[in-house]
Amino acid sequence: MTAPQPKPWIMGIAPYVPGRSTVDGAAKVTKLSSNENPLGTPQAAREAFETAHRSLERYPDAAAAELREKIAAHYGLDPARVIYGTGSDEILHLAAGAYAGPGDEILYVRYGFAVYDIAARRVGATPVIAPDKDHATDIDALLACVTEKTRVVFVANPNNPTGTFMPHADVMRLHAGLPSDVLLVLDQAYAEYLDAGEDDGGMELAIDAPNVLVTRTFSKIYGLAAERIGWGYASAPIIDALHRIRAPFNVTTAGQSAAIAALDSQDFVVASREHNTTWRAWFEDQIAGMGNAGLRAVPSKANFSLVLFEGRVTAEMAYHALMERGYIVRWLPGQGLPNGLRITIGTEEDMRGIADALREIVGG
Ligand SMILES: *Cc1c(COP(=O)(O)O)cnc(C)c1O
Repeated sequence: MTAPQPKPWIMGIAPYVPGRSTVDGAAKVTKLSSNENPLGTPQAAREAFETAHRSLERYPDAAAAELREKIAAHYGLDPARVIYGTGSDEILHLAAGAYAGPGDEILYVRYGFAVYDIAARRVGATPVIAPDKDHATDIDALLACVTEKTRVVFVANPNNPTGTFMPHADVMRLHAGLPSDVLLVLDQAYAEYLDAGEDDGGMELAIDAPNVLVTRTFSKIYGLAAERIGWGYASAPIIDALHRIRAPFNVTTAGQSAAIAALDSQDFVVASREHNTTWRAWFEDQIAGMGNAGLRAVPSKANFSLVLFEGRVTAEMAYHALMERGYIVRWLPGQGLPNGLRITIGTEEDMRGIADALREIVGG
């Protein structure tokens, strides 16, 4: 008897490894492994979430009408062209599913977001990985990898796990260099962490160009990772295609309510950004001070820092030593970064604590 066989490309997927959240035996655990907001969730979003539980027997609004209106009003967009997903992860999968399949290529840069590989393989497309430039996106190398089979290009800006950023002119150059029948997905999960004036122009492209999809999330600066709410913006034909394969009730009632309230909580967003900018700079300074032990932080525009270990103490040793002290960070051998630890910018106490711990580990 033969058992059902998964498609061969499904078995080619390496299962996604989430950031750990537990440590055996540590008295106090500090989780800096999933880029969550150390300031928590806006109070109004928490209240909206709790109120939504009064109608548990009802399906959510399948059209997410109020959420789309709210997003459109906040960002100056057309509500009809806002797509929403079970996290922005779902929208990445929708993009791959609608525009690529077996025989097609999906392109992204080395050290790109881990979901791109899964999204490409899941639909039977061939993942193509362009070389990086010291961990950052190399536009020329990326464009050189485009073939007549390329259907989708995924770029996160700022990127995860590196934190690197392509400025406005580079995003424009990338778009200008792509054939018009290639879908450019600009993943802006960390866009709200950029300072005013650092906008990469991705949303303008999504407004005007027929081949650009921008994705955003409520998981990071808005502090709603538990509810899985993401959204995207593109031309009407792209949005129409994505809706056809979206799960019908993909964003929960509580999630929609919480996201609407979160958008009204811009003070929280500003406070989160300022906290992040301050403590990221502070932490990068601390790492620079450990340069003689071979530590180096890749310059970051996101809410985490990728620390490279190029001395006697390896990233693996530091990962375990931090864990013994109760600090969970992300070690990334599965993403080709065995010499790197990705460390989320936490509270002041978290950052002072982990900097002290690292100094002890590399000095001792
Ligand atoms: C966290 C993250 C996402 C998505 O998160 P969701 O919780 O699914 O919205 C998407 N892209 C990048 C680069 C991320 O780091």
